[in-house]
Amino acid sequence: APATDIALSCHGIERSFGGLRALKGVDLEVRQGQIFGLVGPNGSGKTTMVNVMTGFYPPNAGRVELFGADITRMAPHKVARCGVARTFQNLALFKGMSVLDNVLLGRHVHMRPSALASLFYWVWAEREELAHRRVVEEIIDFMQLQDIRDEPVEAIPMGLQKRVELARALVAQPRFLILDEPMAGMNQEEKEYIARFILDARDERDVTIFIIEHHMDVVTAICDEVVVLCYGEVIARGDPATAIAQPQVVKAYLGE
Ligand code: ADP
Repeated sequence: APATDIALSCHGIERSFGGLRALKGVDLEVRQGQIFGLVGPNGSGKTTMVNVMTGFYPPNAGRVELFGADITRMAPHKVARCGVARTFQNLALFKGMSVLDNVLLGRHVHMRPSALASLFYWVWAEREELAHRRVVEEIIDFMQLQDIRDEPVEAIPMGLQKRVELARALVAQPRFLILDEPMAGMNQEEKEYIARFILDARDERDVTIFIIEHHMDVVTAICDEVVVLCYGEVIARGDPATAIAQPQVVKAYLGE
């Protein structure tokens, strides 16, 4: 396969916290256009892996490549400028701000650094206002948030807040989107709704998706491929249904 076919490649990733080896030489490769799942019991190193991939934690050893470029020790804001967007396990929306303004914040990666201090002045400045607004309006429509766009985020239900967070990640127009437990705390209906949006985002928006997810029904339904971590090591990989049925994976989850 040509090098450009690989969206993300992590090789030999090691990361320790004091004496604790959270990642013990993890290798993984995500192909462009995939929905790739990272699973494993609590404490297995999933969040640490994403923090290494996004520049929040430099690895102690190993190499991270994004679309063929070395991003191993790049700062998080530079990784974002390379086309990586991320949502967080615990909601990171700004209370007191409307749905629309929270989504708009996701455009910051496309703004000049000097503009960050005066974000809103700049966003509404005439020259680039239209381009940003168009993207934001389009994503608000895509995520079906039109009816609640002016509501303060804290006034809307949790399931919708998660959707706002996903919208904010999408307005950055990422090539690589990382979703950290996007279905946490959701009922079945909300889970199916988000699963649909994830599939549509991949199919219509030309984005590769990397997802940490605990719901195995979701993983088998939407992921093309998975890696299973346990105590910082890969214990299974490949087709989701096959990988999570492996005895060592079943055993790893029994202790939960
Ligand atoms: P997961 O996301 O799979 O639940 P984590 O990556 O959060 O796992 O954690 C892996 C291990 O690394 C755990 O033992 C956790 O306590 C430890 N760990 C994670 N982040 C830190 C940190 N900032 N400082 C110290 N230990 C950490």
